[in-house]
Amino acid sequence: GTPLQTAELATIRALHTGQAVRQHQEVIRQPDGTLMPILVNAVMLDPRLLATPSATHPTEPVALVMLQDVAVLKEAERLKDDFIGLATHELRNPLTSLQGFANMLVVQTRRGHGAPLADWQREAIDDIEMATRRLVQLTDDLLDATRLQAGRLQLIWHETDLVHLLADVVHRSQATTTRHTLSVDAPTNLVMVRIDPLRIEQVVQNLLTNAIKYSPAGGPVQVSLQVTADAAVVLVRDHGIGIPPDGKVTLFNRFARADNARDAGIPGTGLGLYLCRALIEQHGGHIWYEAAPDGGTLFGFTLPLASAG
Ligand code: ATP
Ligand code: MG
Repeated sequence: GTPLQTAELATIRALHTGQAVRQHQEVIRQPDGTLMPILVNAVMLDPRLLATPSATHPTEPVALVMLQDVAVLKEAERLKDDFIGLATHELRNPLTSLQGFANMLVVQTRRGHGAPLADWQREAIDDIEMATRRLVQLTDDLLDATRLQAGRLQLIWHETDLVHLLADVVHRSQATTTRHTLSVDAPTNLVMVRIDPLRIEQVVQNLLTNAIKYSPAGGPVQVSLQVTADAAVVLVRDHGIGIPPDGKVTLFNRFARADNARDAGIPGTGLGLYLCRALIEQHGGHIWYEAAPDGGTLFGFTLPLASAG
């Protein structure tokens, strides 16, 4: 969505710096205002190989630049995203009633309403409830992902104290595990940021779920909040299986998962971090990860401070 500076144009990059540009996605605004999505490739060519006896300037730099109109592909991609969005939306309603009724069975039985259940029956209901909760989570993630792809994810901004928000999410996550010890290290004063609190909660929740899920042996999960001149920095550190160094894929892409997570048989879809990155960037921050010094992983993100904006 940002105009390219002259130095960033593929042709200039190839000609001036000899840098090859591969599969760069750009949008051309045409004179009549319509937008054309294109894929750009550019490589510098060795002018001597092209020189013919008639060439007047055999040493002039030469680049091969290819602009490919990908409007049709983009449209197909949009239709696919629309379809996923629609299918997921239709799944969401029956899931809500499944979840509601499974929950009712668990709660009412616990209160002694109706005939007492055998152990296997209670376990079966618990399993149904857990599976529906996972399905609801998955459909919600898919819905968010399609909204993001379509640029339809709206943030609802509120001035929010980040210290409180972190404590809340950590408290809720601690209730899901006994093998891990969660802690928060934050300033004692308020740290005010202008954010969509529900969305930032979702980000922290995702990072904590990962920290817990990818530390199958248990251990400490530390959340910390630091304040710099213009940003709040949140770090989530675990002592789990870690992320193998591999520059090829970025785990912030849709459906990306690391080999060691798959090999360990830890279930996941690969949507959590994609959503985290999109949400943090929509807030004007950035998110990253690094290997923690003595094993495990450290995820961090920044948010602009309310006073700085
Ligand atoms: P889900 O969509 O249910 O969150 P997921 O956890 O596999 O599925 P992401 O949260 O996007 O997907 O994470 C992507 C991948 O990054 C994971 O599959 C895992 O390989 C790796 N990963 C993320 N967090 C950690 C962590 N704290 N420690 C080790 N690996 C991690
Ligand atoms: Mg995850």
